[in-house]
Amino acid sequence: MSTMMERYGTAMIKAFGTPQRVLVRGEGPYVWDAEGTRYLDLLGGIAVNALGHCHPRLVAAIAEQAATLMHVSNLFTTPQQIELAERLDALVGGGRHARTFLTNSGSEANEAALKITRLTGRHKIIAMEGSFHGRTLGALSLTATAKYRLPFEPLPAGVTWVPYGDADALAAALDDETAAVILEPIQGENGVVEPPAGYLQFAREQCDAHGALLWFDEVQTGMGRTGAWLESAAQGVQGDLVTFAKGLGGGFPIGACVAVGQAADLIQPGQHGTTFGGNPLASHAALTVLDIIESEGLLLHAERTGAWLASSIEAVGLPQIDHVRGRGLLRGVVLTEPISADIARRALERGFIVNAPRPDVLRLAPPLIVTTDDLQPFIDALPDLVA
Ligand code: PMP
Repeated sequence: MSTMMERYGTAMIKAFGTPQRVLVRGEGPYVWDAEGTRYLDLLGGIAVNALGHCHPRLVAAIAEQAATLMHVSNLFTTPQQIELAERLDALVGGGRHARTFLTNSGSEANEAALKITRLTGRHKIIAMEGSFHGRTLGALSLTATAKYRLPFEPLPAGVTWVPYGDADALAAALDDETAAVILEPIQGENGVVEPPAGYLQFAREQCDAHGALLWFDEVQTGMGRTGAWLESAAQGVQGDLVTFAKGLGGGFPIGACVAVGQAADLIQPGQHGTTFGGNPLASHAALTVLDIIESEGLLLHAERTGAWLASSIEAVGLPQIDHVRGRGLLRGVVLTEPISADIARRALERGFIVNAPRPDVLRLAPPLIVTTDDLQPFIDALPDLVA
């Protein structure tokens, strides 16, 4: 009988290379492979499993909704969709008029936002070097990484990239033909890169001066990941467009594009749509995630646990580790040598899941429910992992 890996390679169009393990079960911050080996999931499904794996309240809520009403067409609506949209509008709008479009993923949330920017009558977009916004053609047209884009050109035109965090370059690129500036409040795929203090505010002022929309991609940073509902709001700035996914469903596929102020009224009924986006099952899952983040105090927990994680890693005092950056439980361990892939491989052998977004950066994005007790064995193993 062929192995799971052989069957995978035959059956599937691979997203990356061959998967590292076949995972069969999860509980809290841990997952188990087909051989019964347990791993501490320090990556949280890449910032998705906010509540850890199989949180009992989320599992029960999904089962209950599945047994009540799983899907309706978008010719109808359900209380779950309306309630989720109201929650997101309030979170992002902060008192201003806002509206939400629900999707299945981060890429689709960005597609919706990109279509909204087109309805301004302008089509020029300024994005950031090092950005990642997804792999569907519209989202890909915003993503900076050339190797992702080049095989698929021509892509939608009009995008220019400026160095992330460079105020002068942003000011020079923006003009009165610019529809929007899109940026991640912390760049995730680029290796957890933070902008300089005041940069988001500067972008806000520049967009206002030129009548351009400010668009925050919070797909990776949002929903508690950095210890705040929105990392942009934590940095004191409100966007006109904010996109979410990943942690929003805690593992259930759902994304959202929230539009504030005038941007909220640009799309007219009939101009955009989706069959599944935010169906009652997905919306109920997301509402439950938001409730649990609130009732379990996970924003503060993520902020404190993330600070402990960063300082504990630095305190080991290893020469291969320069410093730890990021906020809350979105962290990049900056290395002095290009050894992140080796560390990630050794970590997996020792029962820790981490990833290597750049040769000199390890990314950590554990579930928001992770405790210092769960994390301590990783700290203890670090000298062996880097050596
Ligand atoms: N935006 C950002 C900032 C992301 O990190 C990602 C996924 N890594 C996406 C968009 C795309 O999301 P999805 O994979 O759900 O389409």
